[in-house]
Amino acid sequence: MPELPEVETVARQLAPLIQGRGVLSVHVYDPKLHALSRQRLAGDAVVEVRRVGKQVALRLSTDRWIAVHLRMTGRLIWRPGPARGGERAHLRLRLRLDGGSLFFFDVRRFGTVQIFADLEALEPEGLDPTSRRFTTSALTQLLQGGRGAIKPWLLRQDRLVGLGNIYCSEILFEAGIAPARPAGSLTSPEIQRLHHATRSVLRRAIRACGTTFSDFQDARGLTGSYQHYLKVYGREEAPCPTCGATVRRIEQQQRSTFFCPTCQR
Ligand SMILES: [Zn+2]
Repeated sequence: MPELPEVETVARQLAPLIQGRGVLSVHVYDPKLHALSRQRLAGDAVVEVRRVGKQVALRLSTDRWIAVHLRMTGRLIWRPGPARGGERAHLRLRLRLDGGSLFFFDVRRFGTVQIFADLEALEPEGLDPTSRRFTTSALTQLLQGGRGAIKPWLLRQDRLVGLGNIYCSEILFEAGIAPARPAGSLTSPEIQRLHHATRSVLRRAIRACGTTFSDFQDARGLTGSYQHYLKVYGREEAPCPTCGATVRRIEQQQRSTFFCPTCQR
């Protein structure tokens, strides 16, 4: 499932391709998205593309927002021409714009496309860890009293938004914090390290255009490269890149967590 860096990558790549283009029509190929076919979008224009939480959001000139949640296998691809032959089976939506189309392909069909009257309506509850509001003191407040383990705590979207399973393992490794530590037990130097690690792992992952595991492809149909930089995720039994100890895998709430028992305390 794409996490924050992958969604950010798609939004950043789409922005220069479709910002400023007028909307000609919308074509819905999946009954699950039929609510969109009732929307009058023709005559509107795309004025901004950005990531909001884990969604790619298109602001229209009427100030409405089209928000796309890619979920497992959703892909947003800009093409000047029609969809290619092999892609058509998975086409769920086509937004025809001046000079081309934005296609939404989705093999497993868990993705969503919705229209919102304003930005507030689509903004997630959790704090965005790339935003200015994400400070050490904001993180300290969020962690206060947290009894559950820090790894599943980081995955919860109502506190911090956009962190998924891959980056949570990487962030905790970078911060030197054991994944089973109760969230509320972190000391202030540890919270500072966690804050710094969250920022730096996300920044590097965005720079690498995200991580490609199974299906993620960015807006150009290419794949990210952050998988080459992963230090613990998916590296069970491999040596820790820092100390050489064996990387271990545990399950926390049915999700795999990878960590170094020596470096992470
Ligand atoms: Zn280590």
